[in-house]
Amino acid sequence: MTAILSNLQAVRRAVTEAATAAGRPLGAVHLLAVSKTFSAAAVREAYQAGQTAFGENYLQEALDKIGALHDLPLEWHFIGPIQSNKTRPVAEHFAWVHGVDRLKIAERLSAQRPAAMPPLNICLQVNVSGEASKSGVAPEAVLQLAMDVARLPRLKLRGLMAIPAPTDDPARQRAPFVQMRELLETMNAQGMRLDTLSMGMSHDFAVAIQEGATIVRIGTAIFGARNYGAEQ
Ligand SMILES: *Cc1c(COP(=O)(O)O)cnc(C)c1O
Repeated sequence: MTAILSNLQAVRRAVTEAATAAGRPLGAVHLLAVSKTFSAAAVREAYQAGQTAFGENYLQEALDKIGALHDLPLEWHFIGPIQSNKTRPVAEHFAWVHGVDRLKIAERLSAQRPAAMPPLNICLQVNVSGEASKSGVAPEAVLQLAMDVARLPRLKLRGLMAIPAPTDDPARQRAPFVQMRELLETMNAQGMRLDTLSMGMSHDFAVAIQEGATIVRIGTAIFGARNYGAEQ
């Protein structure tokens, strides 16, 4: 058995255990395999182990992999920061974008989404307490942004995404995930129809699942430690 296959099996088991322990139905949590810095061959191996959804952060690296793996029915998610002059290839090659935090980016993605493709699935990145990166819309501003994005014709607004600052302490991991769950509930109570909470990574996905994550984005636990020297 290869490392990727056995890692994937272990992650799937852990995801199922966390979901079951939280009383959540089977299939409520989707596994996004984050393949940034790993080769097309590694993605192919994960696909052969049954994984079809992959997350990428770096546009050129992602486009190279998407091209190399065109023979496979993969679903690509862009999870990195998006520059406004790089929206077109994202609109043309991905099924999901998780890091939208400005209306201008959303407008460009909608305008550039090819008519022949289904609407682009969007998560708004929220800067919850302890967000590791500086990107993300403030919690107070997310409802207005969501209402604006929901009007764009070629996008399908699905929900919210966050990248809390890494900590191995489950008690401190929980607070931002609770904040995200409550934010989504508040927005849905105000008339939005959001079904996605994209939160939880290798070190904190169990807690994220307890608090309602519907997509966990997991890299290291599947592919191993990243070698950032190899990044472009
Ligand atoms: C790299 C990355 C991940 C995966 O992180 P791991 O700790 O390797 O599981 C998830 N989400 C985003 C946005 C990332 O950049």
